[in-house]
Amino acid sequence: MKQDVILEAIDVVKYFGTDAGWMSRGPVIQAVAGVSLEVRRGETFAIVGESGCGKSTLARVLMRLLTPTSGDVLFDGRQVSAIQGAELRTLRRDMQFIFQDPFSSLNPRMTVARLVAEPLEIHAPELSVQERRDRVAQLLRQVGLRAEHADRYPHEFSGGQRQRIGIARALASGPKLIIGDEPVSALDVSVQAQVINLLGDLSRDLGLTLVIIAHDLGVIRHMSDRVAVMYLGRIVEIGATEQVFTDPKHPYTQALLAAIPSMDGPVTDHSATVHGEMPSPSDPPPGCRFHTRCPHAQDLCKTKTPQLAAAQDGSHQVACHFAETLQRPHLPQTAPRKSKTAEARFALYRAATEGGTVTHKTHQDDP
Ligand code: SF4
Repeated sequence: MKQDVILEAIDVVKYFGTDAGWMSRGPVIQAVAGVSLEVRRGETFAIVGESGCGKSTLARVLMRLLTPTSGDVLFDGRQVSAIQGAELRTLRRDMQFIFQDPFSSLNPRMTVARLVAEPLEIHAPELSVQERRDRVAQLLRQVGLRAEHADRYPHEFSGGQRQRIGIARALASGPKLIIGDEPVSALDVSVQAQVINLLGDLSRDLGLTLVIIAHDLGVIRHMSDRVAVMYLGRIVEIGATEQVFTDPKHPYTQALLAAIPSMDGPVTDHSATVHGEMPSPSDPPPGCRFHTRCPHAQDLCKTKTPQLAAAQDGSHQVACHFAETLQRPHLPQTAPRKSKTAEARFALYRAATEGGTVTHKTHQDDP
């Protein structure tokens, strides 16, 4: 494992319906079908794709919330599936998870103080009661909440504020890496931008590594350094976010980009749009899994599976037999880059999605 890599997936496969013994009569769901990737220290890495593409299952395998059918996950050089006992507690401290639905992930009978203090009781038992209280207040401030919020219950908060509580809980153990499974998709769009910026700022200030799972590429461009695009259990394109956005080589990535709201209006280049539903992961098409929806599919695509390979210009990796010869569709290039300040990203994001402008750190405006 390379020094700068904190998390690595090696040919990870996760099938459901294979371990129920002779009683099992249902189809085998091929949720993740051979995924390899590396996440570098301190970066924000995004995994995107439509609902049902296997990205959430992959996230749970990376966290060891699910056991892979085959393949390996390495965290900080350790084989995650082999970790036991006290080492497993250390792994739980170092890797934290942010859930999509902040409400259902918070115990409604616990105050915010208890919710945020709970990980501290497990991972920092040496803290005195006062030290724990101080740490909770510090964590609440870090996520844009106030110390007096500590005595309230989750139902007293808005969706954005509840997600901030979830983030404070995730930060409590002092993790090296946080995986967020659609951390903003349940939120109102203006609140999404606030939480996106909060995560970006925390990652920069604390040197955290973030893995963000999302179905919306527009969200991803605002916060990620690198991105992997998944379709039906496989990665079809992976590389630096700016390269993937400015020169998407896989027809599926092009279709996802064409679907991003743009101030230039809707995309009119139909070679960048796909139709129909994603096939069932219990019966994936042979050859290229995308061939049933791809506007460029040829006979070879129906029989031969394309492998991820470096593009000829060396920019990033793509799994398409014809990636080098396909004509690039015309896609709008209006989305802001991660290198802009958080305030600028926020304003541009909102302008692109709903035509307004707002200022940074407006958590009090949460509905
Ligand atoms: Fe489309 Fe064929 Fe490329 Fe698959 S391999 S994305 S079907 S052109």
